[in-house]
Amino acid sequence: MRKRTGTSVKSTRKAATPASNGRAVPKHIYVFGGGRADGRADMKKLLGGKGANLAEMTNLGVPVPPGFTITTEVCRQFYALGERWPKGLEAQLAQQLRWLEGVTKKGFGNPKNPLLVSVRSGAPVSMPGMMDSILNLGLNPDTVHGFIVKTENPRFAYDAYRRFIQMYGDVVLHVEHKAFEEALTKQRLAHSAKTDAELPAQALKELVGAYKAIVKQRTGRDFPDDPMEQLRGAINAVFSSWNNERANVYRRLNNIPNTLGTAVTVQSMVFGNMGSQSLTGVFFTRDPGTGENRLYGEYLVNAQGEDVVAGIRTPKPMAELKREFPKIYDRLYKIGQQLQKYFKDIQDMEFTVEEEVLYMLQTRTGKRTARAAVTIATDFVKEGLITKDQALLRIDPAQIDQLLHPGIDPKAKPRVIAKGLPASPGAAVGKVVFNTRDAVELAEKSKVILVREETSPEDIEGMAASQGILTARGGMTSHAAVVGRGMGRCCVVGCNEITVREEERHFTAGDVTVKEHDYITLNGTTGEVMLGEVPLVQPELTGSFKQLLEWADTTRRLRVRANADTPQDAKVARGFGAEGIGLCRTEHMFFGEERLPVVRQMILAKDVAARKAALAKLLPFQKQDFIGIFEVMKGLPVTIRLLDPPLHEFLPNTPEDQERVSKQLGIDLRTLRETVNSLHELNPMLGHRGCRLGITYPEINEMQTQAIVEAACELLRDNVKVIPEIMVPLVGHPQEFHVAKAVIDEVAKRTIARYKVTLKYLVGTMIEVPRAAVVADVIAQEAEFFSFGTNDLTQMTFGFSRDDIGKFLPHYLKANILPADPFMKLDQDGVGGLIRMGLQKGRATRKDLKVGICGEHGGEPSSIEFCHKVGMNYVSCSPYRVPVARLAAAQAALKDKK
Ligand code: PEP
Ligand code: MG
Repeated sequence: MRKRTGTSVKSTRKAATPASNGRAVPKHIYVFGGGRADGRADMKKLLGGKGANLAEMTNLGVPVPPGFTITTEVCRQFYALGERWPKGLEAQLAQQLRWLEGVTKKGFGNPKNPLLVSVRSGAPVSMPGMMDSILNLGLNPDTVHGFIVKTENPRFAYDAYRRFIQMYGDVVLHVEHKAFEEALTKQRLAHSAKTDAELPAQALKELVGAYKAIVKQRTGRDFPDDPMEQLRGAINAVFSSWNNERANVYRRLNNIPNTLGTAVTVQSMVFGNMGSQSLTGVFFTRDPGTGENRLYGEYLVNAQGEDVVAGIRTPKPMAELKREFPKIYDRLYKIGQQLQKYFKDIQDMEFTVEEEVLYMLQTRTGKRTARAAVTIATDFVKEGLITKDQALLRIDPAQIDQLLHPGIDPKAKPRVIAKGLPASPGAAVGKVVFNTRDAVELAEKSKVILVREETSPEDIEGMAASQGILTARGGMTSHAAVVGRGMGRCCVVGCNEITVREEERHFTAGDVTVKEHDYITLNGTTGEVMLGEVPLVQPELTGSFKQLLEWADTTRRLRVRANADTPQDAKVARGFGAEGIGLCRTEHMFFGEERLPVVRQMILAKDVAARKAALAKLLPFQKQDFIGIFEVMKGLPVTIRLLDPPLHEFLPNTPEDQERVSKQLGIDLRTLRETVNSLHELNPMLGHRGCRLGITYPEINEMQTQAIVEAACELLRDNVKVIPEIMVPLVGHPQEFHVAKAVIDEVAKRTIARYKVTLKYLVGTMIEVPRAAVVADVIAQEAEFFSFGTNDLTQMTFGFSRDDIGKFLPHYLKANILPADPFMKLDQDGVGGLIRMGLQKGRATRKDLKVGICGEHGGEPSSIEFCHKVGMNYVSCSPYRVPVARLAAAQAALKDKK
């Protein structure tokens, strides 16, 4: 819901006093159009994206309807002054209105030749559809007559008037949109009109009266007829919309500071709904879904801009414009190319043709999918528009995650039930929900697909929570399409083959009914909607993406490794360009039907001999795993971590499982229960885990070392180069490492001697206990490498449980106590301070100490930049994030160079 700010028009009147203290009043308003512009494209912070680019278009000779922009600074002052206007604004507004009247040769409130304006928001960072706009402002009972005379079209004039009251009533006076819609429907029924377009002038005139009555009844006040009062109210409403709920959510999701504020652009109206030679549309200079070099967009003849984006009428594609209005198409193409060249990026533009005269209403950098971003960046390098470095810096590493999303398995034979427009590529499987609230709720437990008639900016949270979005209406530039693409959500829009019954919680496609929580699959690349859970496949690196990452590889200094525990993971990681394994968590090899019972025997063993017997049975499994991984990694370093988690994680916890396991292992149930209980810990994360396990049960470290070294020696004999790095987890005291290393070295040397080969291996440690960072210089006397385990290091530095942070993190984020989830984005001041210290101390002892990171942060761009800055050798992350890390590491190097 829109936040009611209670802004009163009266209060702004009071605030509008001229500067009387002799100090110069700052420039609050910048004009554009009619051959003059006060602003420039690089003034986005002050004029918002829209205002700055309208100014620049004027400078470049592109036709724009003249107008002016009230600065974002005024918006900030508006809030600082308790929603009042700063000094000088009223006077400057009057002055610039006079200027606008001069260039348009019309009068604001002039009944004979009225100037009508739009009032639009425009933040420094694009926030599509999140704030409010008002069109046709300046109409009243007098000016509407002048407008009729000028246009010779009473129907058109009354339609503009009723739209204005509706918009103004909703946005400024907070009268429910629904009330107007009801009156409109009533009028349609009374005149047997199927659509609004069939309503005659008289009906629309009556509607103006009905709308005004609604306003009076809901607000207790007459609808304002004074154009100046209308304008002040609209400006305030746009400022207030900066703080509405959906804008706040959007800013939170996109990390946009709340302090930026919005500019307000007041622009003379041009009309795309003046008949068959008038039209309006939006287009991109390249295809924002694929990056293909063609004008991509939509238009509607005889329509207002809102009709195109709102998805109410399904618009025509630009290819049709080329046939229908070839001259207009040519001009648009040329203007598009001119602006794309000037801004060195693809442009997303709005235009209106009023009786054959073309006006550009807006240009901004086009939001695009990751696929398009990569194609465009590499194409622009080839065209000489930008350099390779610029191309690398232009791609958001987090966004390329989209390219690593799954597609539909080509072997699958899905049942396609409908086809819509492919608005945002990738594939998604999930349970159907019909509103934002349900999407957010169910997303905690399951993957969801949000299905709507059409989305509105209020759905933004639900869209963010969903895997994919399906709408029955709207075109490729509708809200769902634009926002879905921006978020990287798979999205199918304008699917008129489905009928959505949001209230009844189902949708139909032909004779198929899909109910709430049924599974569907979407293919955002083809627009197909499929029944059930269709198998998906993982993507590969090819074409421009491969090219871009190769450029990244020649730019970055940091190496990129992967966290991989199986030969299959290792294969995926190598496919994505991993240069080694930074973390192989061996405990993951302890699960599975054959292995778990043996692991349990090992844990439940009564004495060392029994434990050793169980471990001996595990050895061949482990060895085989390592052989598989070493083979895939062929000569690249592989860091293997010795057993880390508390042992109770391997034991059955429920009475039923315990009974089953006691039978399976032939162990007395009571004894089993007693052992489980004895292993129970109050703080398992701080308990008997990590190196503490291998120190208390050295036979575990012995077996794991033997498996690693035997695997390496056997491959070495077959001439496969192997670089094993054995890693001891959770060390806090140098003596812990000393004890563990002694066992590892002893077993390794013995095994190597047995195989009669020369094998070089390293023994190092994870730094994940704060104490280890503090005594890193001593640990480095023996440790040959460090790997920062920032999951545990974050947990122990903050004292936040990794598993329980969800209970208070949302509150911390909302209350701005923390800027981000520290388990996702490295806390550079706190945890980062320990990393810096640990690294410096370690290298003070051992100059060439190899240092990396293997916590989740190793795949997060801002954390990777930090790792570059402190001088780590590598980052290690999940296989699917390896390309993200390659790019982020290159960007870090480029920023450093700057
Ligand atoms: C870490 O703590 O950062 C780490 C990589 O180990 P794990 O997540 O397995 O505890
Ligand atoms: Mg850890």
